[in-house]
Amino acid sequence: VYILLHWTPHTSYNFHNTKITQDKTMTDAITFATPYDDSNIFAKILRGEIPSISVFENDDCLAFMDIMPQREGHTLVIPKRPAVTFLDIEPDSLANLIKHTQIVARAVQKAMNADGFSIVQLNGSKGGQTVPHIHFHILPGSILNAGAHGAIPSDPEHLAKVAEKIRNA
Ligand code: AMP
Repeated sequence: VYILLHWTPHTSYNFHNTKITQDKTMTDAITFATPYDDSNIFAKILRGEIPSISVFENDDCLAFMDIMPQREGHTLVIPKRPAVTFLDIEPDSLANLIKHTQIVARAVQKAMNADGFSIVQLNGSKGGQTVPHIHFHILPGSILNAGAHGAIPSDPEHLAKVAEKIRNA
């Protein structure tokens, strides 16, 4: 099978072509990245200008409670480096962000005793993104029957207790 694959001109042409296309797409995405507006609310959180109720932080990422949770335990994970959407972040940083999202999701799931959970990521205002700094939402349970998006503020004292559970999970 190995020899056949290597000697079938069609297969090797397609493979080569796909690779070039992928490389070009990545270059384009980085070259034409959406301009970053550093007055967005998550940039302010990262600079410490406004508070957040954090559950995890290291040099690369910050995870904190969504102040308008769609369900108890709704947590956000953001990279510290600026990027607006999924297409604007460098692939290595995206991989690192997903790695941290998995770490935090494990803690959220355990702390909330959730049977299932949803990872959500919205891109651009037409895609429903309201804060233009890339982030992953971690939501216990299903997004399909969650509360309204970014609509009802939760009591910060209550959120702090939920955050403590997640930090200790
Ligand atoms: P998105 O619409 O995907 O950009 O999600 C932005 C999320 O950020 C929404 O779920 C909001 O409830 C949440 N949010 C907005 N402001 C803050 C804030 N200051 N602290 C924590 N979460 C926030």
